[in-house]
Amino acid sequence: RRRERAGRVHGPGRTADGHPVKLLANLGALQELSSAAAADCEGVGLFRTEFLYLDRAEAPGLEEQTAAYRQVFDAFAGRRVVVRTLDAGADKPLPFVNAGDEQNPALGIRGLRTAARDPELIDTQLAAVAAAAAASGAEVWVMAPMVSVPREAADFAARVRAHGLPVAGAMVEVPAAALRAGAMADACDFLSIGTNDLAQYTFAADRTLGSLAALLDPWQPALLDLVRMTAEEGGRRGRPVGVCGEAAADPLLALVLVGLGVTSLSAAPSCLGEVRATLSEHTLEDCRALAALALAAGDAQSARAAVLDRTG
Ligand code: PEP
Ligand code: MG
Repeated sequence: RRRERAGRVHGPGRTADGHPVKLLANLGALQELSSAAAADCEGVGLFRTEFLYLDRAEAPGLEEQTAAYRQVFDAFAGRRVVVRTLDAGADKPLPFVNAGDEQNPALGIRGLRTAARDPELIDTQLAAVAAAAAASGAEVWVMAPMVSVPREAADFAARVRAHGLPVAGAMVEVPAAALRAGAMADACDFLSIGTNDLAQYTFAADRTLGSLAALLDPWQPALLDLVRMTAEEGGRRGRPVGVCGEAAADPLLALVLVGLGVTSLSAAPSCLGEVRATLSEHTLEDCRALAALALAAGDAQSARAAVLDRTG
């Protein structure tokens, strides 16, 4: 039944009462580009640029990066593309970034932290994004992964603007960033919650360990509380707050996220149809009631069960 419904609703995401929720695609390797561009979506909400360079011993140069980004922006002309700067780290080591000499790489120099150690890397990437953006018709936004404190977000935003790129954001993947979401939102133009890492760091549970899946469940009420704080503080300042982790791909959880105040959802293109169809059947008020139910639940399972019971 869901699949049938998913085929019937098209266009921009909205709730039954017309509240807009941008539905965007996650994009990794360029092999995914044509299916993402063909998908019914308003653009790319997470372009994982590190996926282009995972196997490299040497950093990609300006021209090579410009050509790759140009392909993506051209495919999304007239739509938004949120480019994430290189997110090298424990689960996605980039040989030209990670020295491999850390005892706890998930807590080490990863994501935006690599920019402080190697400014040329991020400046080359931003120059390539700017050159590709200038030559294309896409609306290019840029965001940094693994931002922990507002100062990092402000420095990143200044760096992005120095390259002539007008819109800079910070990912919220570390509990400290969610706890200071207001100051984070003041420091840049938008926030994007990465629920995969936010769950990992909130529950001190390695995201690559299947045996810890219950702790990493995005229905965990503590995780949802951090989403709520972030969306509320962003909303108070008129800043968009998206979710681009796996949580956004679950149609029922999408209702909860919207009820918590999230303004866009970015997921694998194949998941967007069901999310769109489910949203179209519930009002914003319904979503808020579902969010309250999930927040009040004692654990992930009962949060999901409560929402399922109310919608089903
Ligand atoms: C996340 O952490 O939720 C996220 C979207 O980024 P990645 O999965 O690429 O770390
Ligand atoms: Mg992440």
